[in-house]
Amino acid sequence: MTEVYKNFIGGKWVESESKRTFENRNPANWDEIVGIFPKSTAKDVENAVDIAKKAFESWKRVPVPKRGEILGRCGDIMVERKEELAKLETREMGKVIKETRGDVQEGIDTAYYAFGEGRRLFGITTPSELPDKICYTVRKPIGVAGLITPWNFPMAIPCWKVIPALLSGNSVVIKPASATPATATKLVEILNEAGIPEGVVNIVHGTGREVGEALLAHPDIGVISFTGSSEVGSRIAEVSGKMLKRVSLELGGKNAQIVMQDADLDLALEGVLWGAFGTTGQRCTATSRLILNEKIYDKFIEMIKERAKKIKIGNGLEETVEMGPVINSGQRDVIHNYVKIGKEERAKLVLGGNFYEEGECAKGWFYEPTIFIDVKSGMRIEQEEIFGPVLSVIKFSEFDDAIKIMNDTNYGLSSSIYTRDVNLALKAAEEIEAGITYINGPTIGAECHLPFGGVKNTGNGHREGGLAVYEIFTEIKTIYFDYSGKLQKAQIDTSVEK
Ligand code: NAD
Repeated sequence: MTEVYKNFIGGKWVESESKRTFENRNPANWDEIVGIFPKSTAKDVENAVDIAKKAFESWKRVPVPKRGEILGRCGDIMVERKEELAKLETREMGKVIKETRGDVQEGIDTAYYAFGEGRRLFGITTPSELPDKICYTVRKPIGVAGLITPWNFPMAIPCWKVIPALLSGNSVVIKPASATPATATKLVEILNEAGIPEGVVNIVHGTGREVGEALLAHPDIGVISFTGSSEVGSRIAEVSGKMLKRVSLELGGKNAQIVMQDADLDLALEGVLWGAFGTTGQRCTATSRLILNEKIYDKFIEMIKERAKKIKIGNGLEETVEMGPVINSGQRDVIHNYVKIGKEERAKLVLGGNFYEEGECAKGWFYEPTIFIDVKSGMRIEQEEIFGPVLSVIKFSEFDDAIKIMNDTNYGLSSSIYTRDVNLALKAAEEIEAGITYINGPTIGAECHLPFGGVKNTGNGHREGGLAVYEIFTEIKTIYFDYSGKLQKAQIDTSVEK
């Protein structure tokens, strides 16, 4: 059944002023249209921002614990609708139902975290250098937040942005990826049902070029929070930089798992399979490189090949399916082109490397789990984000070499090491250049109450998740309260006056 979706502006579901629409299709079955969405314009963005700006004036005055209660209700509604939301998400994004349930759960956890944070949102209180004077800070909202999201976590990523932005007292305009606009629209529906006042939450569907650019360029958007590719991130930084807007960028990754010779190999195997082929490799934190010690190299490669070739591929709505399709034909072509590049670079293809078109899968965009071995540091398949089920295996002999290979990329999001040597584990945590390091766990699996983000080209220094995300969505205000009843001078050398 095809649902017709609209923009949500000023508490009302409205069409685009263009009257044009676009379709969203199921990547597991391209014949199935999941939804029809308004193809919006800069004018729609302008309407949404104008309304959000007005709504901000009263929302910012709602006490933070009250805002938190509304967001807590949003979590409750998501709990009730979890299965329906997960199924919709699998239909529009393709990942398997266990993962989309997890994606919705991440949204629920984020909402409940915000519910609690509403009773804290701490500033600091600190002594003054002068008598009879106190100093403290409070967190103030910024204004209208522009939130631009990718397609690979259609519920979790919008929640990671919308929920803390709202708790902080901002109003928001969301532009979800046009490949997965339905789930984000359901989130807006839920926020509305939970009691967010009219005009505080708005969603405008459409392309990055039209809707995304209009959001960026709008002078009344005070903060942009973007998750997506490094190319688009760089464009966003450029425009926002010129306009002196606050901007938070969560971008690509080229994550690796190191396996030392002393590791529990069965555990390391589970980790790399989940990290490389979970979500069909379409996670910013996906394990796209395996850095493997020479002493266990041949044995471990045999172990992965054996297991990876048994991964059950298919429509993610079937409970037993382990790997769904990639998002669309364009992305499948990108992946296939990287496989071609890998062969040209003389890496050795030992598994996969082709479209997967068995039975019903011929109707969608499936790709085989793919493994290259004997990959050398510096090859393109070792350096560039592929965003698909392709694993590159690189051999090393000494621990320091493994760290060097790990760090020798332009990205720095997630990383992992499997070892039983506690000293090496801690040394790796110290030496690896990444925002996240897992010890004896795969590169994927963030928890919403911890900071999430990366170094180098993975971002611009901000972190989502936990308390860290409130740095993005609040302004710090410093208050000096002098109750001495006389002029007291700070920043003056009082020794001269004595
Ligand atoms: P993308 O950069 O193509 O698109 C992301 C969003 O930006 C979409 O909503 C798109 O419409 C919009 N957009 C495109 N051009 C724009 C422009 N000129 N101005 C404003 N908005 C514009 O990314 P994608 O293909 O949707 O997602 C995959 C990428 O996201 C990968 O690189 C992945 O690593 C990254 N990602 C990063 C994280 C993280 O937290 N670091 C998480 C998930 C995904």
